[in-house]
Amino acid sequence: MQIPEISIVIPLYNEEAVFQQLITRLKSLMEQQSINIEIVLIDDGSKDKTAYLINDICLQDTRFQGVILSRNHGHQLALSAGLSYARGTKAIMVMDGDLQDPPELLPELYAKISEGYDVVYAVRKKRKESFFKRMLYWSYYRIQQSVSSFHIPLDSGDFGMMSRRAVDHLVKMPEQSRYLRGMRSWIGFKQIGLSYERDARAAGNSSYGFRQLFALAYNGIFNFSEFPVKFITRMGMYSIALSMIYLAYVIFRRIIYHDVPAGFTALIVAIVLFSGVQLISIGLLGEYVLRIYNQVRNRPLFVVDKVITDREVRNG
Ligand code: UDP
Ligand code: MG
Repeated sequence: MQIPEISIVIPLYNEEAVFQQLITRLKSLMEQQSINIEIVLIDDGSKDKTAYLINDICLQDTRFQGVILSRNHGHQLALSAGLSYARGTKAIMVMDGDLQDPPELLPELYAKISEGYDVVYAVRKKRKESFFKRMLYWSYYRIQQSVSSFHIPLDSGDFGMMSRRAVDHLVKMPEQSRYLRGMRSWIGFKQIGLSYERDARAAGNSSYGFRQLFALAYNGIFNFSEFPVKFITRMGMYSIALSMIYLAYVIFRRIIYHDVPAGFTALIVAIVLFSGVQLISIGLLGEYVLRIYNQVRNRPLFVVDKVITDREVRNG
């Protein structure tokens, strides 16, 4: 097999119902493109026949590469595994196996990469999911946006394409709890969104239960923001400020109107004041925990786009 220019990474978990359809769509896509494409199928410890199907297709057709994980590791880790095996020299596309993301978007995504973008993330125009789930997603992305320390695009999932060097950087980030769409924003370079309509699942059931979605949402919020810790400290400061204002007010009433019962004020003020002190102390500990977390996460300190040495420009 020739060296592929584009890899398409697809994590699969219990997807035997859509598998044939997926392969058919991918094959016809590859036939239409003049460029060399490789498909990386990751089996994330499926309990159905998915792993066998992957095995079969990879033995028949060298354009397919299979990565079978030892057990179910979850979507983000399956994707990470796929990215580290992808050999595409120019670009790597990421999509879901249930055909909710149309593989036919490849030429459009690749056009952007060829224009010089390093990350093209697909932005969902409309979701074909239940109202309740849509509401949850909608509010989650807005909350995430408002607490995040830097910009992670709204309404975009993992579907999209990255340049070779962007993926190289992503693979080098060793953090355990992974929120790939955030990490993808973190690496920087030129990034752009491309809107598309997200289809309903072609067949089978979503294996992303609410538990998994919440786990992902947690990673999204805690890995990319210092907001929760700052929030505690701020609450502590407000408590103290509140207790001071209240104290001033009560002293004022006592001197002018003499209508405040004895003992009551001191009690309220002490409770509010010391809750504030405790909150600030917890926040302070939190600050150290954050620093330890940032250190052990071991992200690279910076990502270089270009270096110009002796009048020669090199890519970072
Ligand atoms: N998936 C996976 N491991 C898991 C759960 C899901 O690899 O533990 C895959 C799944 O096969 C699909 C993609 O991740 O290709 C998205 O999953 P799903 O369609 O269940 O999520 P949803 O689209 O409902 O968010
Ligand atoms: Mg899906």
